[in-house]
Amino acid sequence: MKPIYLDYAATTPVDHRVLEAMSPYFTQHFGNPSSVHRFGQKADAGVEKARRTVAHHLGCQPSEVVFTSCGSESDNLALRGAALAARRDRDANHILTTSIEHHAVLHTAQQLRDVFGFELEFLPVDEYGRVDAASVAERLRPDTAIVSVMHANNEVGTLNPVAEIGAICREAGVPLHTDAVQGAAHLPVNVEEMNVDLLSIGAHKFYGPKGVGALYVRDGTRLLPSQTGGSQEFGLRAGTENVPYLVGMAEAFRLAQSEQIQRASHSQTLRDAIMARILEEIPHTQLTGHPTQRLPNHASFALKNVDGNLLISLLDARGFACSSGSACKTGNPEPSAVLLALGFSEEWAKGGLRVTVGKDTSLEEVEAFLDVVPEVVKKARGL
Ligand SMILES: *Cc1c(COP(=O)(O)O)cnc(C)c1O
Repeated sequence: MKPIYLDYAATTPVDHRVLEAMSPYFTQHFGNPSSVHRFGQKADAGVEKARRTVAHHLGCQPSEVVFTSCGSESDNLALRGAALAARRDRDANHILTTSIEHHAVLHTAQQLRDVFGFELEFLPVDEYGRVDAASVAERLRPDTAIVSVMHANNEVGTLNPVAEIGAICREAGVPLHTDAVQGAAHLPVNVEEMNVDLLSIGAHKFYGPKGVGALYVRDGTRLLPSQTGGSQEFGLRAGTENVPYLVGMAEAFRLAQSEQIQRASHSQTLRDAIMARILEEIPHTQLTGHPTQRLPNHASFALKNVDGNLLISLLDARGFACSSGSACKTGNPEPSAVLLALGFSEEWAKGGLRVTVGKDTSLEEVEAFLDVVPEVVKKARGL
């Protein structure tokens, strides 16, 4: 039997239409976009067309789109760049974020605290992993440098009320960053409607290549560059542009956003089937994340007294690829920090299961998966 991939929140294959758009930029239009001659102009035209496409689907100006090497770099540039600029410009030393951010945000915030001396404060999250906008209002201070709240959580799929939080930050004059690396793959991401100043995306979560991302930077938002050198990317990110990859990201983003409604409704049908059957057929199982305010392709669970990574290995042996959510090895399972933050006890938080479907996942594949999960969980519990 052909292995079945149900881990689209980890990464996706490159869409053949994306590969086609990239292809001429490897060999034919290989110039350096900074070169004055026609080879350079051709490459530069590809870069700027990609920038216009990404800007169009974010609802911003092309001059507000900074290309980076991945979603993680976008998060790093946003956090570190905004924090250091706010300290320089207005003596701001306070950072507000959540403890369930992707490590690209969380570890950057911790570095800003531990190495750079910023005061780091975590916003509370509810049992689904949601931030309440009122809790942001309570904690914002005149010396808050940056607020960062993720759009959609990668581990439990929950969506945050980013637009509401953004309205509060705007009123206080504090920039808001959102990590939309998951969200942009499945939902509209209009920066005006979302009231954000900084927004991260990464191509490989929406059928683009790995190793390329973008950061939306609202006009007027002060950032220190993540990488110094040449004047590429408005002086915020030096280095010769990865032309084929950002052409690919733009095409992948265009497709994700223009096919958003069809993809989301297809995924949601499968997601709902997964949630219903797993909760019904497997004892001692809880849904993690919000039941409805969640990514349309994302089902996640906590299974009591199961080693999540052992379960993933057993499922893999049966031909199904999913994720546990915690990044630890089998044998010595660590509870998921995200599930602990949501209030799950250790005996639940070690048994994370994340099943994420893609635009081409079929109902037959999902049913084949659902047919074997109960016995595999039983086996994992017995071992
Ligand atoms: C995947 C992911 C990232 C990191 O993106 P890369 O392109 O892999 O660096 C950041 N945040 C979230 C929410 C993600 O899902």
